Amino acid sequence: MIDGKTRLCGLIGNPVEHTMSPVIHNTLAEKCGHNLVYVPFQVEEGRLAEAVKGACALNVLGLNVTVPYKSAVIESLVETDELAAHIGAVNTLVRTDGGYKGYNTDMTGLYRAMTGEGIRIEGEEIILLGAGGAARAVAYLCGAQKAGKVWLLNRTREKAEQVAEEVNGAFGRDVIVPMLLSDYQKLPDGKFLAIQGTSVGLAPNTEDVVIDDAAFYRKIHTGFDLIYRPFTTRFMSLVQEAGGKAYNGLKMLLYQGIIAYELWNGVEITEEEAGLVYEKLRQAMGLFA
Ligand code: NAP
Repeated sequence: MIDGKTRLCGLIGNPVEHTMSPVIHNTLAEKCGHNLVYVPFQVEEGRLAEAVKGACALNVLGLNVTVPYKSAVIESLVETDELAAHIGAVNTLVRTDGGYKGYNTDMTGLYRAMTGEGIRIEGEEIILLGAGGAARAVAYLCGAQKAGKVWLLNRTREKAEQVAEEVNGAFGRDVIVPMLLSDYQKLPDGKFLAIQGTSVGLAPNTEDVVIDDAAFYRKIHTGFDLIYRPFTTRFMSLVQEAGGKAYNGLKMLLYQGIIAYELWNGVEITEEEAGLVYEKLRQAMGLFA
């Protein structure tokens, strides 16, 4: 029941109508017995700083940040976590005395999702598709988690080169090798973990895939698509058809939310609770257990 002690958390972005974050946080609040509600806030262009300041004045406990404000929000914060500052993107704001501190739980969420599935990054040979906001964070994760080599393939060469330069500079070694997407046949022999970080294949364009060549998929032992709508992407199907294991991005979404919830409330969410929230997310997507 909402009463005088109810705390508020929410999401700022534009648009926000399709978000599944309220499912994550309101389920957790109910399970943990916290007097907290989570709501989406659509913030119009040019009003971001005002929104963050207003939230602080209203004693809002925490906020998630989504497209298009993940980078722009940094200048409205009193502090930014070191990793988030390196990535240049923040998706979680935690209230402190003077304002909000920013974190990037997309990246830590992806890591928790991958380790939960038994996927390792350390020492691995990795193909990373894309060089946009999400793929850039993945490139940092690979650097931080001591990946062997990461072949970063992107349609626009300059963006791949820029991400490689930044990440290699940050970790002091040539971990990221930038390549043009159309040069995928020049990849070395071997078996790879492939992380699909482009927006190709996202609903409603579910038949699209960034590389459509069975020979490419035979190089992949495990494919992780950051997309979760549709639940099985064409990229995942092609990985499976070539004999590899494939995962979607729903657990990344789940764990970025769980880590944000833990930061806001100073609690640790158990795997059992995480499993319950995951089922709620599947139901919200129309996938019943
Ligand atoms: P973004 O910044 O817009 O980047 C889009 C990327 O896709 C770029 O690398 C772009 O290449 C590439 N791309 C777009 N259209 C293409 C095409 N026709 N052919 C080849 N490459 C193409 O987007 P983002 O924020 O990084 O998000 C990427 C995906 O990750 C989205 O589908 C999003 O849903 C998903 N995501 C999932 C989670 C989660 O929690 N599971 C979190 C964040 C993001 P260019 O550089 O050449 O334009």
